[in-house]
Amino acid sequence: LVVLDNVNKHFGALHVLQDIDLTIARGEVVVVIGPSGSGKSTLCRTINRLETIDSGSISIDGKPLPAEGRELARLRADVGMVFQSFNLFSHKTVLENVMLGQLKVRKADKKAALDKARALLDRVGVANQADKYPAQLSGGQQQRVAIARALAMDPKVMLFDEPTSALDPEMINEVLEVMQQLARDGMTMVVVTHEMGFARSAANRVVFMADGRIVEEAQPDQFFSNPRSDRAKDFLSKIL
Ligand code: ATP
Ligand code: MG
Repeated sequence: LVVLDNVNKHFGALHVLQDIDLTIARGEVVVVIGPSGSGKSTLCRTINRLETIDSGSISIDGKPLPAEGRELARLRADVGMVFQSFNLFSHKTVLENVMLGQLKVRKADKKAALDKARALLDRVGVANQADKYPAQLSGGQQQRVAIARALAMDPKVMLFDEPTSALDPEMINEVLEVMQQLARDGMTMVVVTHEMGFARSAANRVVFMADGRIVEEAQPDQFFSNPRSDRAKDFLSKIL
């Protein structure tokens, strides 16, 4: 569904993504882990073209990501993104946040957008918060709204960049549970996270990055019990 072929990117002298080859199948859950600065966020951002690439190619559903224009906006809408900071529109209600993209980008009619927004808020467990403003919600609730907002666009793939890193510990699980359910429902997902419990239980594959490269890819039980590379062994010894 998502294919990165020999992708390279520099930030000035820094070679932040080096020869990245990555294929993500429909329905697959790929967890990306690695040290700070290894390029995980940049990788996510290139997949929906928030960042340009210097060479190589990225395609989604067989269509190459165009550089700009209307086609890019359409393809980008196929990629849902959830960040560490929830990025909700603060002056709009929860319900309006989830309706907005449907109305503006997908040109849905108002009734359809409303019904869908309510159903999605119910699915992530915050239906009773629909008329509040984001600041009136807990971090965990805001992040679940952000997930609902992304899902409202009917994305083909969902990217999560450390979605629980900014949350208080007691709120992490409620967000991870929504993500687990999404994975069980067959959503294609790329998840950057330090939550190794989630990686173990939800991931089909773990991708370990270091210094802008994919150093190792494996199934989670294999990766955690028997990492092949020294970089991965070293990383795991620090976090587990
Ligand atoms: P973390 O775990 O801390 O989130 P990461 O793996 O997500 O790290 P990236 O955010 O992708 O790492 O950054 C990779 C490298 O690129 C870092 O050295 C970072 O300083 C650099 N970098 C990221 N964004 C930019 C930018 N817009 N301009 C210049 N350098 C950048
Ligand atoms: Mg990051």
